[in-house]
Amino acid sequence: MYQNTHGLTYSEIRQAILDKIPPEVGITRIEFEGPRLAIYCHKPEILQERGHIVGEIAGLIKKRIVIRSDPSVRLPEVQSESIIKEILEEAGLVQAYFDPALGEVVLEVEKPGVAIGKSGSNVLEIVTRTHWSPNFVRSPPIPSMTIKQIRGFLYSKSKERERVLRETGESIFRPIYQQSGDVRVTFLGGSRQVGRSAILVKTRESQILLDCGINPGSRRPIQSYPRLDVEEFDINNLDAVVISHAHLDHCGFLPYLYKYGYSGPVYCSEPTANVMTLLQSDYIDVTRKEGNVPPYSPEDILEVILHTIPLSYGEVTDVSPDVRLTLHNAGHILGSSLVHLHIGKGLHNIVYTGDFKYGPTALLQPASTYFPRVETLIMEATYGNPDNVSPSRDETDAEFVDIANNILKKGKVLIPVPAVGRSQEILMVINKYMQSGDMLEVPVYIEGMISEATGIHTAFPDYLSHEIRDQILKQGANPFESDYFTVVRQHDSRDEIVEGGPCIIMATAGMMEGGPVLDYFKRLAPYDENGLIFVSYQVTGTMGHRVQSGMGSAQMYNRDGKLEVINIDMSTHTVHGFSGHSDRRQLVNYVRRLRPQPKRVFVVHGEESKCENLSRTVSKMRGVRGNAPRLLDTFRLA
Ligand SMILES: [Zn+2]
Repeated sequence: MYQNTHGLTYSEIRQAILDKIPPEVGITRIEFEGPRLAIYCHKPEILQERGHIVGEIAGLIKKRIVIRSDPSVRLPEVQSESIIKEILEEAGLVQAYFDPALGEVVLEVEKPGVAIGKSGSNVLEIVTRTHWSPNFVRSPPIPSMTIKQIRGFLYSKSKERERVLRETGESIFRPIYQQSGDVRVTFLGGSRQVGRSAILVKTRESQILLDCGINPGSRRPIQSYPRLDVEEFDINNLDAVVISHAHLDHCGFLPYLYKYGYSGPVYCSEPTANVMTLLQSDYIDVTRKEGNVPPYSPEDILEVILHTIPLSYGEVTDVSPDVRLTLHNAGHILGSSLVHLHIGKGLHNIVYTGDFKYGPTALLQPASTYFPRVETLIMEATYGNPDNVSPSRDETDAEFVDIANNILKKGKVLIPVPAVGRSQEILMVINKYMQSGDMLEVPVYIEGMISEATGIHTAFPDYLSHEIRDQILKQGANPFESDYFTVVRQHDSRDEIVEGGPCIIMATAGMMEGGPVLDYFKRLAPYDENGLIFVSYQVTGTMGHRVQSGMGSAQMYNRDGKLEVINIDMSTHTVHGFSGHSDRRQLVNYVRRLRPQPKRVFVVHGEESKCENLSRTVSKMRGVRGNAPRLLDTFRLA
């Protein structure tokens, strides 16, 4: 038998654990829990107190370990909850969810730092007195229905969740009979196009799918979805799906895999797991509203939730016998990740960027450039042409503030935005410049899904830019809760807003293809004191693109469902430079500064000419071979 990446066999791991743990702990069973090992015992507090024992074992077996109490020693839930309330008096306990399958209690608190106690003293006290292990999570100051529903669902499915994690673990640690080798990638979508990203990585032993997106720009199935119909892709032998980030062109087709029999795990960052659910559910709604049949149902989205294993940036995780996964910050949207795969024992390393921003934004840190090893880089090229150079962020901010101030002297500013990412970026920009006095202080109205997405942002401050994170955690001043912002909860408040004084309205959809932005547009467009500012890319053929191109009037449905002609007299403006994608210079600099330097670069996720151009430029760097793969191309890497 050949050694897997993890080194030790399961029985060796068991023995190492039994050797190291003192008998008084009373181990009752050792079980897989996804990529981790769970040790069930009678006295978890002993291991909690002597943390070095678990640390030593983890170092020895190169695995993450969780300590769980045996069900027989746990205090009843009601009793435990009152003890926990007493211990956490100062931390602002919002809610406790007990998970009897894992012996875990998720504690939603306002201040996780305070809740844990000095060097974990509260954790130890809770474990000792109740024998439940606490897992502290931040209660988002702006409530998110998505997070609430996902937590509720997972705890109602605790038994199934336990089974999924055990089966996943057994599959990851299965013995292997061949030495790892024959690493190859196949591009199933997103080659020389933006949309339906999907890349298959295969070794002799494993199959991993990176992203599974839709192509929103296409109507025909053969062009809308990744090419999962080809022989190279075998759903029954797929070990794992890794999702780089929550945009639909990267995860919109994922629920379909479960509809067609996939029952393995999905790995992504914690925020991605939440935002993904929000956007997939919205995709079903929008598709139905357009009179089309979505490719999957809400039940399939629930399957995704049940099978998702969220990871933190930097957490090294075995996903199959010969592949180890680590996610790193990509700087594109909340939770977006660069995907690092370590294959075999040092055989080959792949970094897949997904979408990434190698530059500063208000919301996020720039993409990471350091990896233990990289031989192959697979990178996006949305702005891969030499003329795709955006102005600096300072220039961009100044232009935006200037345009807004001019309109706000008399009129209202309407900003069409996608709910996730750009909305929060613009909110942070507005808050910053209103506070500094550079921007006129007016009310900022935010519509429905933007507020929900913002709620998810506030639950994960560690994933935001250091500036915003520190404002939230250290200064206790959450910029998302700024006094300038008002969430519009009722349709009839729109009348008041439209008839009131100067203000800023942010509404979806980002390309004006539907959503509340259209209602505001209809009512604001006929007056020349108002202005519309585009802050995101408008695809040809969309309403947003037509308005941006200077259309003088538009036919739109009124409240009685009749078509009417709307004169567009409001001014329209476009501010480039807020993009969450790297511009051409940032793309090239990223390859230059990546450490260590890759030998091979595949350029995907861009129009044909952009992929080809960037690939040629990259090939001119010393020791680097560039390539712009075509759909269904396969390459052998090692
Ligand atoms: Zn994206």
